[in-house]
Amino acid sequence: MDFNLSREHEMLRDMVKEFANNELAPRALELDNKGEFFWEQVKRSGQLGLIGVINSKEYGGTAMGHLARMILIEEISRVYPPMGFFHQTGNLLMYAIETFGNDQQKKKYLPALCKGDKVSAFALTEASGGSDPANMQTEATLKGNDYVINGRKCWITAVDPADVVGFVAKTGDKFSAFIVEKGTPGFEVTRREETIGLRSLPVNEFALTNCRLPKGNLIGEEGRGLVCALTTIATIGRTGAAGVALGIARGCYEIALKFAKERVLYGKPIAALQAIQFMLADMNVEIEAAKWLCYSTAWQLDQGKTSRDLAVDIARCKLYAVDVANRCAYKAVDIMGAYGLSPEYRVIGLLRDALELGVAAGSQEVMKITIGATITR
Ligand SMILES: Cc1cc2nc3c(=O)[nH]c(=O)nc-3n(C[C@H](O)[C@H](O)[C@H](O)COP(=O)(O)OP(=O)(O)OC[C@H]3O[C@@H](n4cnc5c(N)ncnc54)[C@H](O)[C@@H]3O)c2cc1C
Repeated sequence: MDFNLSREHEMLRDMVKEFANNELAPRALELDNKGEFFWEQVKRSGQLGLIGVINSKEYGGTAMGHLARMILIEEISRVYPPMGFFHQTGNLLMYAIETFGNDQQKKKYLPALCKGDKVSAFALTEASGGSDPANMQTEATLKGNDYVINGRKCWITAVDPADVVGFVAKTGDKFSAFIVEKGTPGFEVTRREETIGLRSLPVNEFALTNCRLPKGNLIGEEGRGLVCALTTIATIGRTGAAGVALGIARGCYEIALKFAKERVLYGKPIAALQAIQFMLADMNVEIEAAKWLCYSTAWQLDQGKTSRDLAVDIARCKLYAVDVANRCAYKAVDIMGAYGLSPEYRVIGLLRDALELGVAAGSQEVMKITIGATITR
């Protein structure tokens, strides 16, 4: 296997780096402290064409693909992971509609979502266990031309700001995926979860109480909802989480390296101490390894491989990149002494963000189950 970053990919990276350094980095701490959703930055990201990279041009996307998405999520997350994570979860419903939805749904929802004029969320998880989605309790019953839906979803990113939410419910002994719009009677955001990281991106619980949705709100065929959700979460959620992790790891490394060169102890920068060099060397090697896993997986998706073909590759890149992000964040905090614990120096915030990624889009154990089950087959 061989891949190169194209000139378009390099240009995209330069453009996103400029956006991240000039427009996100100076506000990252303030936005994190406020814990409010970053509407202005989403709008800007839409103007730059960054939200619709996996969507076709016909529906307002840029069709740049999965490697482009990986690069932009990485560059944004280097300085501001909540925004990178928005590009993870915000793309879930956009992918589900583009891949499984009908033409009417694509025309109705995708252009505004690509532009950042509207925001979406995608919900599978329930209190009955995110790793065991087949045990969900939310039910949709067909009555006349409408589905009547009752249930509750939890730990769902950005439902509060979302104009449109995709979700999966039981339809008989199978599962189906639906679209619900903000303001639909019976749909209510009931809670914001307390989170330690990614704080400006709300994670919500919502309830559906006798919520009536027309058949036209079904994404794809009835009974295919779990296929839609699991394909979407693997292709977009896991790769996106890996991209955020890669960005966090790089951010931590860059901050810690700069600090180590500037911090003088015993008359010399601490970068001259071998114990510090060993930590930086570990970070450097692991980031390069994670980058290879992430880029090659995204590139293979661009070559037409599916999330089923790449189940192990996708699980590997999410598992490894998230572990690397956590290890790099922890080492950066360590290298920087007391400064590492000061929010102003950013690495403690990046560690909190990295911790959230262990569970999001499937836990690290679930990634190992996917890999383990395949390699022992
Ligand atoms: C920041 C954040 C954002 C999120 N955003 C979304 C979203 O937008 N949409 C959405 O649908 N969900 C979202 N989630 C939920 C996430 O997908 C779930 O938290 C995740 O799937 C795990 O489910 P759970 O928390 O119920 O843990 P559980 O499934 O209860 O797992 C508990 C523990 O058991 C382990 N475990 C489970 N099964 C096995 C097994 N077979 N063998 C060994 N160990 C096992 C798990 O690894 C974990 O350690 C988000 C979560 C977070 C933290």
